Amino acid sequence: MSYNIHFNKVTNSKATTLDFDNIPLGTTFTDHMFICEYENGAWTNPRIEPLALIPTHPAAMALHYGQAIFEGMKATVDSNGTPMLFRPDKNAARLNFSAERMGMPLFPEDLFVEGLKHLVDIERNWIPPQEGSALYLRPFMYADEPFIGMRAATHYKFIIMASPSGPFFTKRIKLFAETNYIRAAEGGTGEAKAAGNYAAAIRPTELAKAKGYDQVLWLDAVEHKYIQEVGTMNIFFKINGEMITPKRDGAILDGITRMSVIDILKDKGYEVIERAITIDEIKEAASNGTLEEAFGTGTAVGIAYIQEIGMHNEIIHVSNESPVGLEVNDTLNAIKTGKQEDTFGWMTKIEKEVAS
Ligand SMILES: *Cc1c(COP(=O)(O)O)cnc(C)c1O
Repeated sequence: MSYNIHFNKVTNSKATTLDFDNIPLGTTFTDHMFICEYENGAWTNPRIEPLALIPTHPAAMALHYGQAIFEGMKATVDSNGTPMLFRPDKNAARLNFSAERMGMPLFPEDLFVEGLKHLVDIERNWIPPQEGSALYLRPFMYADEPFIGMRAATHYKFIIMASPSGPFFTKRIKLFAETNYIRAAEGGTGEAKAAGNYAAAIRPTELAKAKGYDQVLWLDAVEHKYIQEVGTMNIFFKINGEMITPKRDGAILDGITRMSVIDILKDKGYEVIERAITIDEIKEAASNGTLEEAFGTGTAVGIAYIQEIGMHNEIIHVSNESPVGLEVNDTLNAIKTGKQEDTFGWMTKIEKEVAS
């Protein structure tokens, strides 16, 4: 289906004022946003307009009952400067998975990808060219109907914003295995990228940071022993030569980096085992010398190497080297910058369009 997207462009882009070598994290936004409203049972008026404040009724339902979901993805450029998106269809599908779980309307997946393409096309001067840098894209949907009462809203906004991000500092991270608080339980909202999941994670994360850790390692809700994931990353271990990642248990976020890393590992000839894995097994592997690697995977950082995992008063140390993690990271980056042939068919190129 082809959509009639309206364009209202700024006259002076702020991109010219951006220092690409020094991009403040998460506070720089591009000139435009893609925006669309849901009313009377349909998505209407898709448009790209200057990023601006949006008047909000104090009774907007998202503020009270939390119908709010989001996605996170990146646009990179190849050596010719052509912008590319990484598996945008997967983000479109996951947004709808989240929407369904939260009782929100589905968003047309082709319009999701079209909106992204047009926004990236208009903001192509905002894509940092440096290796490891990217234009972060944040599609999201929230209930903006003014209503006091518990039911699904009938009015929503879908917006895509863009924010340039510099290369991540690839310091090895320290995780705190949390045995008190939980992130998600089977049957809950853990598989949805729903705003409330992150609200519930803020305090445990602050407490872990105060103890000197970077992120929380989430364990299962019932026994506090099965490893789930980390902050906004899924997790992989190499134990005695085997690549292992927690299997999806109804509470783990289905990371697009996770699924891509599994494909890359298999393509390189590694066997990848998706199974339940306990923190005690990791502790045991570390003490008998078979814990060879541990790394997190997510859009924001790509691959994050793990240095240690703290639990109660013990520390599980991970080997200093992560050859498989590095190899996977290199492959992901090479695919995302067009340096390696996209044999998986993951990249969507955005040729220059003369979009009004
Ligand atoms: C977004 C997210 C991930 C990673 O997903 P990607 O699609 O790889 O970015 C993992 N865990 C949580 C909780 C997340 O929110």
